[in-house]
Amino acid sequence: MNTHSECETETKLREKCGVIGIYLTDHEMNASRLAYYGLQSLQHRGQESTGIAVSDGERLDQIRELGLVADVYNNDNLAALKGYIAIGHVLYSTSGKATIENAQPFVSRSKLGNVAIAHNGSLVNAEPMKEFLEETGSTFTSSSDTEVIIKLIAKNYKKGLERALTDTIQLIKGSFALAVMTEKTLIGARDPNGIRPLCLGKLKNGWVLASESCAIDAMGGDLVRDIEPGEIVIINDDGVLSFNFGEKTAKKTCIFEYVYFARPDSIMDGIGVLEARIKMGEVLARESGVTADVVIGVPDSGLGAAMGYSRASGIPYAMGIVKNKYIGRTFIAPSQEEREQMVFVKLNALKSDLDGKRVVIIDDSIVRGTTSRRLIQILRKAGAKEVHFRISSPPVKYPCYFGIDTPARAELISATHEIEEIRQAIGADSLAFISMDGMIEALQSCEWEEETTKEKKPSRAANDKNGDSGASNCGYCQGCFLGEYPMPMIGELGKR
Ligand code: AMP
Repeated sequence: MNTHSECETETKLREKCGVIGIYLTDHEMNASRLAYYGLQSLQHRGQESTGIAVSDGERLDQIRELGLVADVYNNDNLAALKGYIAIGHVLYSTSGKATIENAQPFVSRSKLGNVAIAHNGSLVNAEPMKEFLEETGSTFTSSSDTEVIIKLIAKNYKKGLERALTDTIQLIKGSFALAVMTEKTLIGARDPNGIRPLCLGKLKNGWVLASESCAIDAMGGDLVRDIEPGEIVIINDDGVLSFNFGEKTAKKTCIFEYVYFARPDSIMDGIGVLEARIKMGEVLARESGVTADVVIGVPDSGLGAAMGYSRASGIPYAMGIVKNKYIGRTFIAPSQEEREQMVFVKLNALKSDLDGKRVVIIDDSIVRGTTSRRLIQILRKAGAKEVHFRISSPPVKYPCYFGIDTPARAELISATHEIEEIRQAIGADSLAFISMDGMIEALQSCEWEEETTKEKKPSRAANDKNGDSGASNCGYCQGCFLGEYPMPMIGELGKR
């Protein structure tokens, strides 16, 4: 349910948001600048709006604006945000419009206490919850499902913060990684399937919550661990108190985080993102090898898999393509024709790497097929003799309801075309995708034990007596590839 005007944004998959939270044990210090560093590192997770809310122990203050982190904050407005607790957000909206009303964090003020919230994810029961709240007197100022969460917390606040949170979390269904703040406390929570990532870091004098570990690194902290699916952590001067809400449910982390979204230097649920991409490339080379002179990757998310493909196949790796760093995902393209043209503005070929060569090109995904078709034209123009397209994720055939805004099925080229038809449509000499089992194998071979042991875990596949590595118990949500989701999509299915 992409509510963007076609005139405003590139129509691609869109993922929703990055969150951070900071708690400093020295109450004289300001957390806002650290929040700014963290948000800079999460900019890839959302470019539409950003916000920081702080607390000095007594009152909550906030900035939220449309635009990029670098444009919204400056020395003056960061210095004016005083407080030792902060939460921050970058937004890539899926369920709401890019308006200032939808910018996060959301803050709720009441006699019982104030609370602020930053959310990454998508609720599948936001509509019925909103109706319920409106019937009992709540009013809404945004179209964001996150406002539902803060209204529910505020409604239950008289039971105490912990109860209000656990009650709210049991009512909402979908994906959520939350950073919540009251005057004196920072709270993190991850949905029972752990669909969206959230990790905990340690600073010299405090604690950090972040969607990705690269943000903890940027703040000079150390990654401690991931927040577990269904876990709430409450952070204050006493340290980190952890408890689980609800019954135990299966872990279903979003595979697309590893495929496309996350930064390569992040470690997510014990898996290094670059390592996973390299491994996917190695598996891809084994599954669909081809005789060629050079392997190249589509920047940025295809580069890891291209390195892995080269390593496993022995075909030399080259740069091959240069990406214009200054083109954001919100590039203005008023028509389909111009959106296609945009690929030429964004990516260009290096003739010296490609002229007269048989080229293997690796991208992380094909969604509509626009990028691959244009890229092949670019490579051929630069003299490539053959172009063999390899994709390090299986065909995307189904929409996502949990925070990645895939187009409707009809627009997903793999939902409506066989692989040979796609090959012809994009103009490749050959085309192959990694298999579902191959992708799970790649991820599982990268799983690590807790930081302390630093030893490879036996893969979940090896533990699985049915040898069912590609099926529903592998620990990852594969909804966009298989159409099997971690939960029913209450109220959402009818909208696609
Ligand atoms: P398409 O041109 O529609 O086939 O999209 C495929 C390209 O989009 C690949 O180069 C991917 O790296 C990239 N991609 C995948 N997911 C997203 C996303 N959520 N936002 C922007 N680009 C994406």
